[in-house]
Amino acid sequence: MRRNLEGRAPRLAHRLPALLALVASTLVAACGASQQPVYDVVIAGGRVMDPESGLDAVRDVGIRGGKIAALGERPLLGKTRLDAKGLVVAPGFIDMHEHGQHPLAYSYQVRDGVTTSLELEIGVPDVDAFYAEREGKTVVNFGATVSHPGARIAAMHDPSTTLLPTGDAARRNATPAEEAEILRRIEHGLERGALGVGLGLQYTPGASREEILEVFRTAAKHPGAPVFVHLRYMGLEEPTNALTALQEMLGDAQVSGAPLHVVHIHSSGLKATPILLGMVAGAREHGLDVTTEAYPYDAGETLIESALFDDGWQTVLGITYGDLEWPKTNERLTAESFARYRKEGGEVILHFIPADAVEAAITSPLTAIASDGGLEPVGTGHPRATGTFARVLGRFVRERKALDLMTALRKMTLLPAQRLEKRDPAMRDKGRIRVGADADVTVFDPATVEDRSTYGHPLEASAGIRFVLVNGVPVVIDGKLRDGVFPGKPVRAPVERPKATE
Ligand SMILES: [Zn+2]
Repeated sequence: MRRNLEGRAPRLAHRLPALLALVASTLVAACGASQQPVYDVVIAGGRVMDPESGLDAVRDVGIRGGKIAALGERPLLGKTRLDAKGLVVAPGFIDMHEHGQHPLAYSYQVRDGVTTSLELEIGVPDVDAFYAEREGKTVVNFGATVSHPGARIAAMHDPSTTLLPTGDAARRNATPAEEAEILRRIEHGLERGALGVGLGLQYTPGASREEILEVFRTAAKHPGAPVFVHLRYMGLEEPTNALTALQEMLGDAQVSGAPLHVVHIHSSGLKATPILLGMVAGAREHGLDVTTEAYPYDAGETLIESALFDDGWQTVLGITYGDLEWPKTNERLTAESFARYRKEGGEVILHFIPADAVEAAITSPLTAIASDGGLEPVGTGHPRATGTFARVLGRFVRERKALDLMTALRKMTLLPAQRLEKRDPAMRDKGRIRVGADADVTVFDPATVEDRSTYGHPLEASAGIRFVLVNGVPVVIDGKLRDGVFPGKPVRAPVERPKATE
């Protein structure tokens, strides 16, 4: 029976609903009076890899009610059978740093193996609205922090219409009344189940150290709520460098007790990346709850109108106009075109991260893989938005052998789940392949998995990601996205205060 059905699985995939009944009846006929349980879905005969238990063996994965219900050494029966022979069956990837939180972005993330997409760096201004807008309409699981830049935009009446401030909220110290309002908004977001607080300190140079310490103290009042930080400064130039920026954050974490997560350590660290990684390791050895992440590219992307490009950016970033790329036209910028586009506003690509900083960050055992993707709803952006996870598996693991496969998977699954599980206990059932875990599963071909997007063409789906299941529902079959299927669920901390009493 196993042999008979194997050839049928890929074709079944395309016509899944129509053929479900037929397959189910075939199975029942084939098994006769057997009392073997029939699962909703069986992922058959793949190499199952679980970074938590270390399991690395051929198994059938039986899924029922959205959960992993069995890991069979012998064939299991399923109403739907996905043939994973020769493929790796891994926990679905958890992306902690995804600014693209809309249907087009999700449709590419899931084909890069992502089953949970989280906006934690900058976060969102309105936590209730974020979850309400996505409930029942989203292919992958979703979640967010409450935004410190967003709280500043609102409290300081900044004219920005994006997640990053452009006026007073970027550059000016808050008055005592404004600071109280910023903290009130953050407190409210945490009470409503935000996964932590998002800080983009390089985008809000006007936020004083005293204000930021109070933000940490606000987070620390909520069980397990980390502060996710884009550091205040970059690189190794004295005196405002990435070391002093990380020292400020480690001090605030220590003083307040709030856990700390440093985003994209290599694009803040630049040449100083190995030093920053050593600081994170040392802080952990001495008992501080601090984690970090990186993306596998040597260019970043941000808004050209942001405070990052205020006077002196060439020195801070160690680059000049020609290292900036305007993705709409793929042109490298000059002083003239920079000034013109800064007035217009929009996404710009910065070629600024040294290759050895990328290497150090991606191969460090400390870092989770997180994309920092920000695909625009119109389809422009950095290729990391659509190719991060396949790029690590294809280029760093297979081609260059810079990482072993289990270590790479750990960075994409278990590390992010562990970062969040003190805040949202439901995360204990993600990032793992074990009985009882959520059936978020990514099945890929280790021989062909590869990113396809480039700076000029960021809308190329990754290759080699064969099947993706979210809460037990197949959403990618034979590399193709199924339309109109929305099994994604909110990843949200327990709500502390009912909406009605706000
Ligand atoms: Zn950032």
